[in-house]
Amino acid sequence: MKDPFSEIVKVLDECESIACFVHKSPDGDALGSALAIYNFYGDKKRISIYSPTLYPEVYSFLPGIGSVIVYNDFSSDVKGADVALFLDCGDIGRVPGFDFNLFREVVNIDHHESNGNFGSYNLVDPDAPATSTLVYELLKRSRAGVIDTNVAICLYTGLYTDTGGFRYSNTSEYAFKVAGELVSYGIDPSRIAFEVYENYPFRRMKLLALALETLELFVDGKVAVMTVYKDFFDKVGATPEDTEDFVNYARAIKGVEVGIFIRERLTGGVKVSLRSKSYFNVSEVARIFGGGGHNHAAGCELDLPPEEAKLKLLAVIKERLG
Ligand code: 5GP
Ligand code: MN
Repeated sequence: MKDPFSEIVKVLDECESIACFVHKSPDGDALGSALAIYNFYGDKKRISIYSPTLYPEVYSFLPGIGSVIVYNDFSSDVKGADVALFLDCGDIGRVPGFDFNLFREVVNIDHHESNGNFGSYNLVDPDAPATSTLVYELLKRSRAGVIDTNVAICLYTGLYTDTGGFRYSNTSEYAFKVAGELVSYGIDPSRIAFEVYENYPFRRMKLLALALETLELFVDGKVAVMTVYKDFFDKVGATPEDTEDFVNYARAIKGVEVGIFIRERLTGGVKVSLRSKSYFNVSEVARIFGGGGHNHAAGCELDLPPEEAKLKLLAVIKERLG
């Protein structure tokens, strides 16, 4: 079998233009992976980064973040390139409107088990702690650019945020090995920790205060639900991107196995984040509703008002929790 690393390095090294795609509500791993590519190839190629939605303000420190284009309408906002490079996208629907005709090759780099291998080249490894560690392995094999401090900041941020600051079950020996290697490129881990977890806009904290008020327990205290209704945003001047990681407050309660975060979308329906602590597989639940993710972190979207979405999710989870 061909080695996907060397095949993909060849495709990326030899093309002239790459359009990177991150998923809706991009996180540190998706953004860090795309920006690592952007900084690595520098001005040797045309690299663009497209995001379907705005990114959380905390990621403003990532080198090159100003280059990210938030598109509204794919067909009018996205320009064709030699290669479309998907980063951290569990399925193609995470990049709405994607048009295969605009690209010669589609490269898919991801660590979600549910990934549908939709690319012409696929590098999908559910054992990778982050997509950014796969990107790191690729860039180490390339001779077309250099891993400098800026590239290392982006890769480390992906790994750091996807492991929840080296707390989740994907915090393996390998994760620390890569982190150690990235530190050797001159990054400052304490500064990245500060930027990601201790530099929130005030409005996010005010929104969190409203969200915490909604916390409820179900199934003998094993499930916690937190909800952000759309009118909350105007009350404190916040935006949907400010809700990143709110779900962790639901999961962090003693005795809770499953944390649910329901965000009412401004356009109707809800975006749901699911997290589990140890034995419960939230990815299976997300998939029932057309979403996906990992065993302990998954998400989906439902075209239902928040209360109805909550009841549907609870029914499925209750049955499986026993
Ligand atoms: P989050 O809850 O932070 O949005 O996402 C948690 C995990 O589930 C991430 O790995 C994310 O990529 C995945 N995820 C979230 N929402 C969806 C969705 O609607 N579809 C799919 N396939 N994956 C999702
Ligand atoms: Mn990821």
